[in-house]
Amino acid sequence: MATAASASYTAKTPFFTAATGGTGGRMRETHEVFNQVPPLVDYNLFACDLALQDALAREGGAAWAAALDALGAQLGSAESLTLGDQANRHPPRLATHDAHGRRVDRVDFDPAWHRLTALLYASGVHSAAWLDPRPGAHVARAAAFYLHGQVEAGSLCPVTMTFAALPLLRAEPALWRALAERFAARDYDARDLPLAAKRTLTVGMGLTEKQGGSDLRATTTRAHAIGAGGRGAEYALLGHKWFYSAAAGDAHLVLARSADDALSCFFVPRWRPDGTRNAIRIERLKDKLGNRANASGEVEFDDAFGILVGEPGRGLPALLAMAAHTRLDCVLGSAALMRRALAHRSAAPRPPPPRLRPPADRACADAQRPRRSHPRERGRARPRPPPRRRGRCRRGGGGRGGGRGGGRR
Ligand SMILES: Cc1cc2nc3c(=O)[nH]c(=O)nc-3n(C[C@H](O)[C@H](O)[C@H](O)COP(=O)(O)OP(=O)(O)OC[C@H]3O[C@@H](n4cnc5c(N)ncnc54)[C@H](O)[C@@H]3O)c2cc1C
Repeated sequence: MATAASASYTAKTPFFTAATGGTGGRMRETHEVFNQVPPLVDYNLFACDLALQDALAREGGAAWAAALDALGAQLGSAESLTLGDQANRHPPRLATHDAHGRRVDRVDFDPAWHRLTALLYASGVHSAAWLDPRPGAHVARAAAFYLHGQVEAGSLCPVTMTFAALPLLRAEPALWRALAERFAARDYDARDLPLAAKRTLTVGMGLTEKQGGSDLRATTTRAHAIGAGGRGAEYALLGHKWFYSAAAGDAHLVLARSADDALSCFFVPRWRPDGTRNAIRIERLKDKLGNRANASGEVEFDDAFGILVGEPGRGLPALLAMAAHTRLDCVLGSAALMRRALAHRSAAPRPPPPRLRPPADRACADAQRPRRSHPRERGRARPRPPPRRRGRCRRGGGGRGGGRGGGRR
């Protein structure tokens, strides 16, 4: 039986009615979210980015505009954005052994990771710019990289490493003959198999050691010639790497000391040519604050098989040339993150005009209004004609969010 106190409580509380004693099985809206933007999905990352289109045309990449437009639409789809989210929510896991105790040193990724990496390979971001003789190929590749970085950054790592390794490997005739076709292919192959059995390859880089950090002169990993030694010859590597990018990659370019303590560069595949696993033990994956979808690792070499690449003793310049390409991509990746943030801000509704706001709000809202901070952005706004691709940013035509490319505001 209800007391007088509980009857009075029920009567005053809007969530309960005398007739049903509840909501009748329906959830009621407890508040309305009127000041937040809708999720920024289903927009074309390329069509919205007039600054990128300008840069592409200016730097000689106009021939790739249609392909980038298609890529921009695919990357901006709700599906692709969800893949980016999933790849980071379910980071890679290291499996050192199989169920029966055999060493496998395998990295298990979320399927979203593989789908995003496959998209990068299909776009040729891993190699096409080196293999396509047309001027502007590097510009187009940079644009594709920049678009992808707005959706997921971790999958860029193995792709940039593979891209940066290509010039070094191409300078080794015997090795390149075996690899060229697999670099040119765009059919991403995630299988953990010997090089000869793969359609495409992922190549990483191993320089940093615990005791040295940035100081690569402190490298202690040693490479012993299996035969006579020298360029293109086989070696056995003993040591460790504290940072092994794309730890599950098909091969790595590794810095180690060869004869006379000289620092040389070695091509170290995941599998030996005889089809057995190479002696590379993945000790653990890096636990990073960012870049979580990617699997950087720490490894030990226990007489791992390697081939000397380049001139003996010239490993440091060779690998720093490779690193320089990856660092240029770091700039693109960082710019992509900023662009994504700007796209979100650009999609936010403008505040109502001051006359429609209560006086107390005006000073606050004025202070928050975004301003063009860069002089070039300010300078561009007035003389330019109306947007060329108005209405193409959002699928289904001209939503306000995507339609306002950040570069035009
Ligand atoms: C996401 C990520 C990916 C990476 N990928 C790779 C990879 O693929 N392959 C690879 O080999 N490595 C990789 N690294 C490792 C990276 O190259 C090293 O982290 C970097 O060289 C710094 O070394 P460290 O962390 O040991 O710091 P340290 O070299 O010990 O430096 C610590 C501090 O001392 C400063 N310092 C160092 N030397 C000097 C100096 N001479 N003068 C003044 N100040 C100095 C540094 O600026 C820093 O503030 C990666 C690192 C990260 C975070």
